[in-house]
Parts: sequence; structure tokens; C-alpha cells
Amino acid sequence: MKKSIQLLSASIIAVTMVSCAKKTEKKPPVEEKPVEEVFEVKLDRFADLQILRYQVPGLENLSAKQKELVYYLSQAALSGRDIIYASNYKHNIQIRRTLEQIYEKYSGERSGADWDNFVVYLKRIWFSNGIHHHYSEKKIMPEFSQEYFKQLIANTKDANWPVLEGETPEQMISKLTPVLFDPKIDAKKVNKDKGVDKVKASANNYYGDGISESEAEAFYKKQMVAGDSTPVEFGLNSKLVKENGKLVELTYKSGGRYGAAMDKMIFWLEKAKGVAENEAQAKHLGMLIEYFRTGDLKKWDETNIQWVATTEGDIDFILGFIEVYGDAMSYKGAFEGVIEIKDFDASKRMKVMSDNAQWFEDNSPIMAEHKKKNVVGVSYKVVNAAMESGDAAPSTPIGVNLPNSNWIRSTHGSKSVSLGNIVQSYNDASGEGSIDEFYLREDSRERIKKYGKLSGKLHTAMHEVIGHASGKINPGVGTPKETLKNYSNTLEEARADLVALYYIYDQKLVDLGLMESLDVGKAEFDGYIMNGMMLQLRRLEPGENVEEDHMRNRQLIAQWCYAKGKDKNVIEKIEENGKTYFVVNDYDALRTLFGELLREIQRIKSEGDYKSAEKLVETYGVIADQDLMKQVKERYEKFNLAPYSGFLQPTLTPVMNDGAFTDLKVSYDSTFAEQMMRYAKDYSFLGNDGN
Ligand code: ZN
Repeated sequence: MKKSIQLLSASIIAVTMVSCAKKTEKKPPVEEKPVEEVFEVKLDRFADLQILRYQVPGLENLSAKQKELVYYLSQAALSGRDIIYASNYKHNIQIRRTLEQIYEKYSGERSGADWDNFVVYLKRIWFSNGIHHHYSEKKIMPEFSQEYFKQLIANTKDANWPVLEGETPEQMISKLTPVLFDPKIDAKKVNKDKGVDKVKASANNYYGDGISESEAEAFYKKQMVAGDSTPVEFGLNSKLVKENGKLVELTYKSGGRYGAAMDKMIFWLEKAKGVAENEAQAKHLGMLIEYFRTGDLKKWDETNIQWVATTEGDIDFILGFIEVYGDAMSYKGAFEGVIEIKDFDASKRMKVMSDNAQWFEDNSPIMAEHKKKNVVGVSYKVVNAAMESGDAAPSTPIGVNLPNSNWIRSTHGSKSVSLGNIVQSYNDASGEGSIDEFYLREDSRERIKKYGKLSGKLHTAMHEVIGHASGKINPGVGTPKETLKNYSNTLEEARADLVALYYIYDQKLVDLGLMESLDVGKAEFDGYIMNGMMLQLRRLEPGENVEEDHMRNRQLIAQWCYAKGKDKNVIEKIEENGKTYFVVNDYDALRTLFGELLREIQRIKSEGDYKSAEKLVETYGVIADQDLMKQVKERYEKFNLAPYSGFLQPTLTPVMNDGAFTDLKVSYDSTFAEQMMRYAKDYSFLGNDGN
């Protein structure tokens, strides 16, 4: 609900193609071994997945005490890791530990197709935090036989099999074998299909055996008090079970369900509280600890209210049971942790734009009567992830807007952040090869490789800070949602993009020190036009048209400019060796066209002109050229890009001197498996029964 994921993100699509140099900016300190010259983002590729790495920029700007805080928070986040496995499916912990025993101790042939398939299966389970696909929710089927599984078990000597109390290893294996190999058993983690009992048909572990959808619904309906304007998030932190015919909640708390992991988190949070950056943060940490101790959802609300009010520090975090997508009934929160450090560079950029917001408004090509007299830049925050766990790892959001409680959002506000270093890694992963494939002219390629990263960041910053903030509605005209209805989102995004495009090719940005030359703007123009005219079509399936608002807006802008500039050949369609390219011939003229379209879209919004909105979007933004889509998909195939990405976490190691915390070192496990096996050793706090 409040999360942006990679596939739908605004910024990622716009800048996906404009990634390039991977040089680390920092020179290695003399006494340490040299950091890698080139930071390799891609680590592993298997099934429909790839594992990427991210850097932690900004960590070096922190004081020793702040680094200590980051470390304690990261340990708290990792300590809850088992919880996501346990709540995704009742056998997940046992299955994972069984396979990890094999991975560690199997004495047979550790190569060949069967072994490789076994390793891929285990890596997929690690990726999805259980045996169900993280995105499709379907059970992952092993690509090796039951026979081979038997052989693996038989040749794993001295195994510490994760049996339950009173269970022999043989009994455990015969219980788990059909769970792994029979596609009909617990086939879907979350099942929201029409006509099924959503609770019984979902394999997740949020409800006990024998509980039906209507029972669960009635249980939570009963708790809601009519007219309560500040309801808690009922059911968020518990498993609902039947005991002696009665429904009861097993609450996640110290001494309760997942108590062992909760206690570890509390231990680290206490330490974090001792080195908090300021009073508000310490207060927030104290409240979170109280909530983890008691499981009281009123305290969770109070914690969130305090969190929203805690805005001063350089470090922030999300920790708890938060998103409810994993429950078909949308009551149960999945455990997640994200530790964030302020993106100092991005904050500086935003501040410059915000400070100059009135200049941008005054010089905008929109009509004078639509300009704001006192424009205030929209505040927008970029942070860098320092650690992610649970529901947020290895697959991660690229932006988060919390808390989820609606009354807290409207009364106390919310925090919205974009995870800058994660976005950066996604962009880097697409590589330079695709730039060579899709940009015909050498000078365009060079510019995109040199400036693409920066142009993407500037575009995003202007889109958010001055784009959405610009313009006003004529007196007496309703809100855009009322007047422009289904077209209002597309046109709002187009307006913000056009402000960014108009100014990214303006000397003002050079004068403000945000970029070194207008070539940054040219790089953005080339990338934007190619993406809007064709590249983004790869995200659609044959037969589909463009539906998503950001995608509609990008195609609308590119196609409108292509059509309007046709006489003067501003954008040229070139076919070469069966490949299509859209090449910008005249950057000044293109900028003028961006300005004209911005003026028109602002007019439509200010006047609430539905007819023009409809015509604009339907003519340029909706229809997907099917031949071009086919071509783009084919040309992308050779880059072997995986549909889904996840991340290896950095390893954060404290540096101590005379018992005092002096520094935090960042390193990386060499493989995904190495990290997962290390986590299994260091952060397995739940029993084999998942509690
Ligand atoms: Zn936007």
C-alpha cells in the first residue's frame, strides 16, 4: 500500500538506461588495504533472480557515536530475521535448516546438474524467506528428484537435523518430503482468489489450523469500536489460534511468541538508546522497546507518533511488524528492518532547489496567472540503506512511506523516503552494454555514460522538490481529482517531469553549482526520449497498452514532442540494420517543446479542462506500439537481466580501541550463500518449530 517497489517506481524507469561509471569516489585510507577500484554491483544470477550489492555512502561522514548507533540498530534488525521465515510458513525454519545442514555437510559429489539444482533451490528459499516465491506467492518446486533428496540426506553425516521435540530425523524427513515435492500441498503463501477461504487457502503462518476466513473476520470486527477515531492496527503483531474451541491471539513479544528473537532485538535497541543522536530519538527507541516487551498495539501507535516527530538526526530506521501484504486478510504485519543514513549529497541538492524554488516558479514557461506567488519546495528525503532484514531483504523496496495507520498519517503526518543507494545499484546493474545497444550516436553514448547518473538524480530532485510544488488552480475550479478524474495522476506526473526536463537544460543549474555543463541536460533528453518512445515498452506484455500513470506520462511527453517537432526534425526516427532509434537533433528546440507542453498541461490542470486532458493522454500516452515492444524485448534479452533483484547486505564490523567504539568497517561476504550461512549461524534465535 505505502511501498514503492522496483517495477512500478517513477525514478527507476526514468533513469534505468542512464547508468554508468562505477568508480568509488573515496580514496582508500593509507593504512588499510585498498578498497576495490570498481564496485561490482552484480553478484549472482539464478532462476528468475539476481543478487546485487549496494554501497553505504555517507557512513564515513558519521561520528564514531553515530556509527555505533548504526551498528546496534543493524544487529537489532538482523536479530529478527528468523521471524519472517516462521511467519511466512509453519515449516520454513525446519526446511531451511535441513537444507543448510546438507549444504554444509553433504559428503557426496558436490557438482553436476542435481547438486546445482539443489543449490539453486536453497538460494531461492533464502531469497524468498521461505519456500514460496516472494512475488508470485507460489510454492517453489525443486528441480531435482525425491530420489536425489533421499541421497542427499543419506550422505549428510554428523548432521544436526532440526527435529521437533519427540520427532526422529526419519519422521521429520518423511513429513517434509511431500511438503517440498507435492505441488498441491500448501501451494500458495497468500491466496486472495475469488471464492476461496482466504485464510484456509493461504499457506502463511498467521492463523492457526482450522481457522476460517469468516471466523478471523468476525474476531477482528468485534474488536473495533464504532466511532473510534484512533483505532489500533488490530491483529498486526500476533498469530490467531484456536485453543479449546476459543480464538486467542499469540502476541509477538518478550516472553510471548517469537520471544527469543524479540529479546535479542530489545538487547540491541537498549544499546542503541544509549548512543542515540538526540532526545527525540532516544524517546522513540525507549517506546519501541516497551512495545516489543508488551506487544501492546496502543504503544505501537505512540511509538509511531514519536517516530514521525523525530526528524533531526542523520540516522533513522524502520523496525517492527509493518506491511500487511503477506496476509490475505491484511491484518498481520510482516517483520522488517531498514536502517537508514541520511544521503548528504542529495540533501544538499534538494536544499539548493528548495532555496531557489521561487526563481524556478517565476521563470517557468507556464502562464503568469497560473504561477504561485509564494512557492514552497516540497520536502523530499533521500536516504541510504545501511542494513535491511526480514520482509525488506533480500528483496527490497526502493522507497517507503510510513506509518500505515491512517489516523496517525492525517493527524501527525508521515515520513517518506527514497533509498538512494538501492536505486543507484539497480541503475548500475543494467550496465553500459544497454547504452551502446540503444543509443545510435557516439556523442550521446559518451554523455550518458559520463553524466547519466547525475542527470537522473537531478531530474528526480527537481521532479519532487519544484515540479510537484509548482502552479496553482484557478479560483472556483475543483481539485484535479474532481475535474480531471482518471487523467489527473498521469498529468500531475507529466507536469513534474516537464519542470525537471525544462530546467535540466538551463544555465541556472550550472550557476547554482549543481552541474558542470549543459551536457548533463543533453544526456537526460536523450535518455528520456528513448525511454518514453520505446525502452519502457519492455515492461509490458504483448497485447497490452500503457496503463501505469508514470509510464503513460513518459510516453505522452516523448510522443507529443516527436509529433510536434516533426516539421523541424527535432526528434528523428532512424532505422538501421533492423534496429529502431530515436535521436534528438535539436536540443534547444526540444527544450522549447517541453516548455510548451508544460504550459498546456498546467492550463488543463488550472482550468480543470477534462476534454483536453482526455485527448492528450489518449492520443499520446496510452497506445503501445506492439512491433516496437517486440523489438525492444528482443534487444534486451542479450543482457540477461533478471526479472527480480535482491541484495546482499553489507557486513558492518566495529573497530574497537581500548574498549571504545572508534569506527565501523564495511565489507562484503564473497557470495550470497556465504552470507546466508553466516546469518543462519549468528542470528538463528527461534526454535525449529518456528517459535
Ligand atoms: Zn511524481
